[in-house]
Amino acid sequence: MSIEDIPTRVNAIFTDYDGTISPVDVSREESRTFPEVERVLCEISKYIPVAIVTTKTYSFIYPRTRSFAHAWACCNGIEIVTRDRRYIPCEVYEKERIVKELLAKTKELLNGTVLIEEKWAGPVLVGFCIDWRLSKTVDMEKVNVIVSEARERGLYVITYSGHPFVDIFAVSYDKGFAVEKLKEILKVSEPIMYLGDSENDNPAFERVQVPVAVIHEKNRMSNLKAKYRVEQRDLPRLLERVLQAVKH
Ligand SMILES: [Mg+2]
Repeated sequence: MSIEDIPTRVNAIFTDYDGTISPVDVSREESRTFPEVERVLCEISKYIPVAIVTTKTYSFIYPRTRSFAHAWACCNGIEIVTRDRRYIPCEVYEKERIVKELLAKTKELLNGTVLIEEKWAGPVLVGFCIDWRLSKTVDMEKVNVIVSEARERGLYVITYSGHPFVDIFAVSYDKGFAVEKLKEILKVSEPIMYLGDSENDNPAFERVQVPVAVIHEKNRMSNLKAKYRVEQRDLPRLLERVLQAVKH
């Protein structure tokens, strides 16, 4: 299948950030949208809505995507932000204490050996990420202690094949939920294109008519449930075709 087979006349683009429109193995500080992808998305956003669906927080994602995104589903859909509104569900307030306790334990066990990124949705701590992509060595037994305790205490754990990090969230939202919510808030109908690069994008792939897996060296063997595939280096070319289609 070539990129010419991917439908391009779509009413919106929803996209993951990390590893999809940005490199997967750089530090958070260095992480940026690929310039050639950003340029085309800016143009596309003049014609149709573009939204981000990410496990990252709003404070991280907004400065990196503000030039083209109309809405952001952050922390796996727990927080949804548009240009004029912010949606946070009540249940995360109830789970915040457990998240805070487990975060403290994680810091005690793993500090200095991994990056621990706190996930805040506005004023609420809704989860955290344990990230060892830049660590020389990591004690996986200790990581697994935290993961087991998170599951026992009713938190939601996302692990990724091929990606050196784990996300722990207060509630079990997924990117499929985020896609449905975005459709409703942005009032867009199918066909919608969803771009993603890992298994946690599968629930989103399953809810749109044009699901596209973005393939790079780290996910070639992943079980991605997208109907279409594009090599990451060809993504600008695919988006250029979308731009031409939505313009006419
Ligand atoms: Mg990703």
